[in-house]
Amino acid sequence: MKKVSLGTTGMSIAPLVFGTLPLGPLQTGMPVREGAALIRHALERGVTMVDTAELYGTYPHIREALNGFTGDVFLATKTHGATAADARAHVERALRELGRERLDIVHIHGARLADPFADRAAVLDELVAMKGEGKIAHVGLSSHYVAAFRRAASHSEIEVIHPLINRTGMGILDGSAADMAEAIAACSRAGKGVYAMKALAGGNLISEARASIRYVLALPGVDALALGMLSREEIDANLELCATDTADDDAWEHLEKRRRKFKIMEQFCKGCGACVDACTADALTLEGGVAKVDEGKCILCGYCAAACPEFLIRVV
Ligand code: SF4
Ligand code: SF4
Repeated sequence: MKKVSLGTTGMSIAPLVFGTLPLGPLQTGMPVREGAALIRHALERGVTMVDTAELYGTYPHIREALNGFTGDVFLATKTHGATAADARAHVERALRELGRERLDIVHIHGARLADPFADRAAVLDELVAMKGEGKIAHVGLSSHYVAAFRRAASHSEIEVIHPLINRTGMGILDGSAADMAEAIAACSRAGKGVYAMKALAGGNLISEARASIRYVLALPGVDALALGMLSREEIDANLELCATDTADDDAWEHLEKRRRKFKIMEQFCKGCGACVDACTADALTLEGGVAKVDEGKCILCGYCAAACPEFLIRVV
Protein backbone atom coordinates (compact mmCIF):
# COMPACT_ATOMS: atom_id res chain seq x y z
CA MET A 1 0.00 0.00 0.00
CA LYS A 2 1.25 3.44 -0.95
CA LYS A 3 2.15 5.63 2.03
CA VAL A 4 2.47 9.39 2.30
CA SER A 5 4.24 11.58 4.84
CA LEU A 6 1.84 13.64 6.92
CA GLY A 7 3.71 16.94 6.77
CA THR A 8 6.66 16.97 9.12
CA THR A 9 4.98 14.91 11.85
CA GLY A 10 7.06 11.85 11.02
CA MET A 11 3.82 9.91 10.46
CA SER A 12 3.61 7.83 7.31
CA ILE A 13 0.02 6.97 6.42
CA ALA A 14 -2.09 5.51 3.63
CA PRO A 15 -3.64 8.34 1.56
CA LEU A 16 -7.15 7.18 2.54
CA VAL A 17 -8.18 7.86 6.15
CA PHE A 18 -11.27 6.15 7.58
CA GLY A 19 -13.73 8.87 8.60
CA THR A 20 -16.07 7.48 11.26
CA LEU A 21 -18.70 10.25 11.44
CA PRO A 22 -21.31 8.36 9.32
CA LEU A 23 -21.14 5.27 11.54
CA GLY A 24 -22.24 7.05 14.69
CA PRO A 25 -25.50 8.41 16.10
CA LEU A 26 -25.25 11.72 14.21
CA GLN A 27 -25.80 9.81 10.98
CA THR A 28 -26.58 6.13 10.43
CA GLY A 29 -26.27 4.97 14.05
CA MET A 30 -24.66 1.73 12.90
CA PRO A 31 -24.41 -0.97 15.58
CA VAL A 32 -20.94 -1.17 17.12
CA ARG A 33 -20.18 -4.67 15.83
CA GLU A 34 -21.15 -3.75 12.26
CA GLY A 35 -19.19 -0.49 12.27
CA ALA A 36 -16.19 -2.20 13.84
CA ALA A 37 -16.23 -4.85 11.11
CA LEU A 38 -16.10 -2.14 8.44
CA ILE A 39 -13.20 -0.32 10.11
CA ARG A 40 -11.38 -3.64 10.54
CA HIS A 41 -11.88 -4.46 6.87
CA ALA A 42 -10.33 -1.12 5.94
CA LEU A 43 -7.36 -1.69 8.26
CA GLU A 44 -6.75 -5.15 6.84
CA ARG A 45 -6.83 -3.67 3.33
CA GLY A 46 -4.19 -1.07 4.18
CA VAL A 47 -5.86 1.95 5.79
CA THR A 48 -3.58 3.16 8.59
CA MET A 49 -5.43 6.08 10.17
CA VAL A 50 -8.91 6.42 11.67
CA ASP A 51 -10.51 9.83 12.22
CA THR A 52 -13.09 10.45 14.92
CA ALA A 53 -14.24 13.14 17.38
CA GLU A 54 -15.72 13.45 20.85
CA LEU A 55 -18.95 14.41 19.10
CA TYR A 56 -19.13 11.44 16.74
CA GLY A 57 -19.91 8.74 19.32
CA THR A 58 -17.73 6.20 17.50
CA TYR A 59 -15.06 5.31 20.08
CA PRO A 60 -16.74 1.94 20.78
CA HIS A 61 -16.70 1.07 17.05
CA ILE A 62 -13.00 1.89 16.81
CA ARG A 63 -12.02 0.07 19.98
CA GLU A 64 -13.76 -3.08 18.85
CA ALA A 65 -12.19 -2.81 15.39
CA LEU A 66 -8.73 -2.61 16.96
CA ASN A 67 -9.30 -5.56 19.27
CA GLY A 68 -6.68 -8.16 18.30
CA PHE A 69 -5.41 -6.14 15.30
CA THR A 70 -1.63 -6.16 15.32
CA GLY A 71 -0.83 -3.61 12.59
CA ASP A 72 0.06 0.02 13.25
CA VAL A 73 -2.97 2.32 13.37
CA PHE A 74 -2.92 6.05 13.95
CA LEU A 75 -5.92 7.58 15.73
CA ALA A 76 -7.03 11.19 15.30
CA THR A 77 -9.79 12.73 17.38
CA LYS A 78 -11.17 16.21 18.06
CA THR A 79 -12.37 18.24 21.01
CA HIS A 80 -15.17 20.77 20.60
CA GLY A 81 -14.63 21.89 24.19
CA ALA A 82 -14.71 25.65 24.73
CA THR A 83 -12.61 25.56 27.91
CA ALA A 84 -9.34 23.98 28.95
CA ALA A 85 -11.18 21.74 31.40
CA ASP A 86 -13.57 20.48 28.71
CA ALA A 87 -10.69 19.81 26.31
CA ARG A 88 -8.80 17.86 28.97
CA ALA A 89 -11.90 15.85 29.83
CA HIS A 90 -12.43 15.04 26.14
CA VAL A 91 -8.84 13.87 25.68
CA GLU A 92 -8.95 11.78 28.85
CA ARG A 93 -12.19 10.18 27.70
CA ALA A 94 -10.74 9.39 24.27
CA LEU A 95 -7.68 7.77 25.85
CA ARG A 96 -9.87 5.71 28.15
CA GLU A 97 -12.49 4.65 25.61
CA LEU A 98 -10.04 3.98 22.79
CA GLY A 99 -7.73 2.06 25.14
CA ARG A 100 -4.65 4.14 24.27
CA GLU A 101 -1.92 5.77 26.35
CA ARG A 102 -1.37 8.41 23.68
CA LEU A 103 -3.52 9.83 20.89
CA ASP A 104 -1.71 10.43 17.62
CA ILE A 105 -3.60 13.63 16.74
CA VAL A 106 -6.06 15.75 18.70
CA HIS A 107 -7.65 18.59 16.75
CA ILE A 108 -9.40 21.67 17.96
CA HIS A 109 -12.83 20.86 16.49
CA GLY A 110 -13.40 24.28 15.04
CA ALA A 111 -15.96 23.79 12.28
CA ARG A 112 -17.54 27.18 12.92
CA LEU A 113 -14.50 29.00 14.29
CA ALA A 114 -12.98 31.61 11.99
CA ASP A 115 -10.30 32.42 14.54
CA PRO A 116 -9.70 29.42 16.82
CA PHE A 117 -6.49 31.06 18.07
CA ALA A 118 -8.60 33.76 19.73
CA ASP A 119 -11.78 31.76 20.46
CA ARG A 120 -10.04 28.61 21.70
CA ALA A 121 -6.73 29.97 23.00
CA ALA A 122 -7.12 28.16 26.33
CA VAL A 123 -7.98 24.90 24.54
CA LEU A 124 -4.88 25.15 22.36
CA ASP A 125 -2.73 25.79 25.44
CA GLU A 126 -4.25 22.77 27.16
CA LEU A 127 -3.68 20.48 24.18
CA VAL A 128 -0.07 21.64 23.98
CA ALA A 129 0.27 20.95 27.73
CA MET A 130 -1.15 17.45 27.25
CA LYS A 131 1.32 16.89 24.45
CA GLY A 132 4.03 17.76 26.98
CA GLU A 133 2.52 15.14 29.30
CA GLY A 134 2.82 12.52 26.55
CA LYS A 135 -0.93 12.08 26.09
CA ILE A 136 -1.04 13.60 22.58
CA ALA A 137 1.56 13.18 19.85
CA HIS A 138 0.41 16.02 17.57
CA VAL A 139 -2.01 18.93 17.92
CA GLY A 140 -4.25 19.76 14.97
CA LEU A 141 -7.02 22.01 13.74
CA SER A 142 -10.19 21.08 11.85
CA SER A 143 -12.34 23.86 10.44
CA HIS A 144 -14.66 24.93 7.65
CA TYR A 145 -13.10 28.43 7.55
CA VAL A 146 -10.37 29.56 5.14
CA ALA A 147 -9.42 32.27 7.66
CA ALA A 148 -8.67 29.65 10.33
CA PHE A 149 -6.11 27.92 8.09
CA ARG A 150 -4.57 31.18 6.91
CA ARG A 151 -3.86 31.84 10.58
CA ALA A 152 -2.79 28.25 11.27
CA ALA A 153 0.00 28.50 8.71
CA SER A 154 1.99 30.70 11.08
CA HIS A 155 1.17 28.84 14.32
CA SER A 156 3.88 26.32 15.09
CA GLU A 157 1.72 24.51 17.71
CA ILE A 158 -0.60 23.27 14.94
CA GLU A 159 1.14 20.33 13.26
CA VAL A 160 -1.77 18.84 11.29
CA ILE A 161 -4.78 20.44 9.62
CA HIS A 162 -8.08 18.85 8.62
CA PRO A 163 -9.70 21.30 6.21
CA LEU A 164 -13.05 21.11 4.44
CA ILE A 165 -12.56 21.22 0.70
CA ASN A 166 -14.38 19.95 -2.38
CA ARG A 167 -14.68 20.88 -6.04
CA THR A 168 -17.69 23.12 -5.51
CA GLY A 169 -16.54 24.76 -2.29
CA MET A 170 -19.77 23.61 -0.65
CA GLY A 171 -19.61 24.06 3.12
CA ILE A 172 -16.68 26.50 3.14
CA LEU A 173 -17.98 29.36 5.26
CA ASP A 174 -15.87 32.29 4.07
CA GLY A 175 -14.61 31.71 0.55
CA SER A 176 -14.24 29.48 -2.46
CA ALA A 177 -12.52 26.16 -3.07
CA ALA A 178 -9.64 28.12 -4.62
CA ASP A 179 -9.30 30.22 -1.46
CA MET A 180 -9.22 27.09 0.71
CA ALA A 181 -6.72 25.43 -1.63
CA GLU A 182 -4.42 28.43 -1.25
CA ALA A 183 -4.64 28.30 2.56
CA ILE A 184 -3.98 24.54 2.50
CA ALA A 185 -0.89 25.03 0.34
CA ALA A 186 0.40 27.69 2.75
CA CYS A 187 -0.03 25.33 5.70
CA SER A 188 1.73 22.54 3.83
CA ARG A 189 4.65 24.84 2.95
CA ALA A 190 4.89 25.58 6.69
CA GLY A 191 5.35 21.84 7.32
CA LYS A 192 1.87 20.96 8.51
CA GLY A 193 0.33 17.61 7.64
CA VAL A 194 -2.91 17.92 5.67
CA TYR A 195 -5.72 15.42 5.44
CA ALA A 196 -8.84 16.82 3.89
CA MET A 197 -12.51 16.29 4.71
CA LYS A 198 -15.83 16.53 2.87
CA ALA A 199 -14.41 15.82 -0.60
CA LEU A 200 -17.92 14.62 -1.47
CA ALA A 201 -19.61 17.46 0.46
CA GLY A 202 -21.19 14.96 2.85
CA GLY A 203 -22.64 13.00 -0.06
CA ASN A 204 -23.87 15.85 -2.24
CA LEU A 205 -21.16 15.08 -4.82
CA ILE A 206 -21.60 11.29 -4.79
CA SER A 207 -22.70 11.24 -8.42
CA GLU A 208 -19.24 12.65 -9.34
CA ALA A 209 -17.31 10.84 -6.61
CA ARG A 210 -14.30 9.76 -8.67
CA ALA A 211 -13.66 13.22 -10.09
CA SER A 212 -14.30 14.81 -6.68
CA ILE A 213 -11.82 12.57 -4.87
CA ARG A 214 -9.18 13.03 -7.56
CA TYR A 215 -9.63 16.80 -7.39
CA VAL A 216 -8.86 16.91 -3.66
CA LEU A 217 -5.95 14.45 -3.77
CA ALA A 218 -4.31 16.43 -6.57
CA LEU A 219 -4.37 19.73 -4.67
CA PRO A 220 -0.88 20.98 -3.75
CA GLY A 221 -0.20 20.22 -0.10
CA VAL A 222 -2.96 17.64 0.45
CA ASP A 223 -1.33 14.50 1.84
CA ALA A 224 -4.42 12.37 2.41
CA LEU A 225 -8.18 12.35 2.47
CA ALA A 226 -10.68 11.22 5.10
CA LEU A 227 -13.83 9.62 3.75
CA GLY A 228 -16.83 8.24 5.58
CA MET A 229 -17.52 4.71 4.33
CA LEU A 230 -20.51 2.48 4.91
CA SER A 231 -19.74 -0.68 2.92
CA ARG A 232 -16.83 -2.95 2.04
CA GLU A 233 -17.39 -2.19 -1.62
CA GLU A 234 -16.97 1.51 -0.93
CA ILE A 235 -13.80 0.94 1.14
CA ASP A 236 -12.19 -1.21 -1.56
CA ALA A 237 -13.04 1.22 -4.36
CA ASN A 238 -11.83 4.26 -2.40
CA LEU A 239 -8.58 2.55 -1.44
CA GLU A 240 -7.84 1.59 -5.02
CA LEU A 241 -8.61 5.12 -6.22
CA CYS A 242 -6.61 6.88 -3.50
CA ALA A 243 -3.62 4.54 -3.54
CA THR A 244 -3.27 3.74 -7.25
CA ASP A 245 -5.52 6.26 -9.04
CA THR A 246 -7.38 3.40 -10.69
CA ALA A 247 -11.11 2.77 -10.65
CA ASP A 248 -13.29 -0.20 -11.53
CA ASP A 249 -15.97 1.44 -13.68
CA ASP A 250 -18.71 -1.10 -12.84
CA ALA A 251 -18.18 -0.73 -9.09
CA TRP A 252 -18.07 3.06 -9.28
CA GLU A 253 -21.17 3.35 -11.45
CA HIS A 254 -23.03 1.54 -8.69
CA LEU A 255 -21.42 3.62 -5.91
CA GLU A 256 -22.10 6.89 -7.68
CA LYS A 257 -25.82 6.13 -7.75
CA ARG A 258 -26.15 6.18 -3.92
CA ARG A 259 -28.04 9.09 -2.39
CA ARG A 260 -28.05 10.49 1.12
CA LYS A 261 -30.86 12.56 2.56
CA PHE A 262 -31.37 15.10 5.30
CA LYS A 263 -34.59 14.41 7.20
CA ILE A 264 -36.37 16.62 9.70
CA MET A 265 -39.72 15.79 11.27
CA GLU A 266 -41.08 19.31 11.02
CA GLN A 267 -44.49 18.43 12.47
CA PHE A 268 -42.89 17.87 15.90
CA CYS A 269 -40.44 20.81 15.80
CA LYS A 270 -40.60 23.03 18.91
CA GLY A 271 -38.79 25.92 17.20
CA CYS A 272 -36.07 26.11 19.87
CA GLY A 273 -33.39 27.01 17.30
CA ALA A 274 -30.70 24.73 18.76
CA CYS A 275 -30.15 23.10 15.37
CA VAL A 276 -29.81 26.51 13.69
CA ASP A 277 -27.00 27.45 16.09
CA ALA A 278 -25.28 24.09 15.60
CA CYS A 279 -25.37 24.10 11.79
CA THR A 280 -21.89 24.14 10.32
CA ALA A 281 -23.02 25.54 6.97
CA ASP A 282 -25.67 28.18 7.79
CA ALA A 283 -28.19 25.88 6.12
CA LEU A 284 -30.92 26.03 8.78
CA THR A 285 -33.38 28.80 9.60
CA LEU A 286 -36.55 29.08 11.64
CA GLU A 287 -39.58 29.88 9.53
CA GLY A 288 -42.91 30.25 11.26
CA GLY A 289 -41.43 28.67 14.37
CA VAL A 290 -40.23 25.57 12.51
CA ALA A 291 -36.70 24.60 11.41
CA LYS A 292 -36.22 24.57 7.63
CA VAL A 293 -33.20 23.40 5.68
CA ASP A 294 -31.67 24.99 2.58
CA GLU A 295 -30.60 21.84 0.72
CA GLY A 296 -28.33 23.91 -1.50
CA LYS A 297 -26.15 24.67 1.53
CA CYS A 298 -26.50 21.50 3.62
CA ILE A 299 -23.36 19.32 3.63
CA LEU A 300 -25.15 16.45 5.41
CA CYS A 301 -22.75 16.54 8.36
CA GLY A 302 -25.42 15.68 10.93
CA TYR A 303 -24.16 18.09 13.62
CA CYS A 304 -27.65 19.61 13.92
CA ALA A 305 -29.00 16.16 14.79
CA ALA A 306 -26.82 16.08 17.89
CA ALA A 307 -28.17 19.47 18.98
CA CYS A 308 -31.89 18.73 18.63
CA PRO A 309 -33.35 17.92 22.05
CA GLU A 310 -36.34 16.27 20.37
CA PHE A 311 -34.24 13.93 18.16
CA LEU A 312 -36.05 15.13 15.05
CA ILE A 313 -33.14 15.24 12.60
CA ARG A 314 -31.31 12.43 10.80
CA VAL A 315 -28.93 12.17 7.88
CA VAL A 316 -29.50 8.78 6.24
S1 SF4 B 1 -28.41 21.34 8.23
FE1 SF4 B 1 -27.47 19.86 9.69
S2 SF4 B 1 -26.62 18.28 8.34
FE2 SF4 B 1 -26.97 20.10 7.04
S3 SF4 B 1 -25.03 21.26 7.12
FE3 SF4 B 1 -26.35 22.08 8.77
S4 SF4 B 1 -25.66 20.91 10.59
FE4 SF4 B 1 -24.93 19.75 8.79
S1 SF4 C 1 -33.38 21.67 17.47
FE1 SF4 C 1 -35.10 20.28 16.95
S2 SF4 C 1 -36.85 21.14 18.01
FE2 SF4 C 1 -35.27 22.74 18.01
S3 SF4 C 1 -35.72 23.97 16.17
FE3 SF4 C 1 -34.27 22.39 15.55
S4 SF4 C 1 -35.53 20.66 14.78
FE4 SF4 C 1 -36.86 22.02 15.96
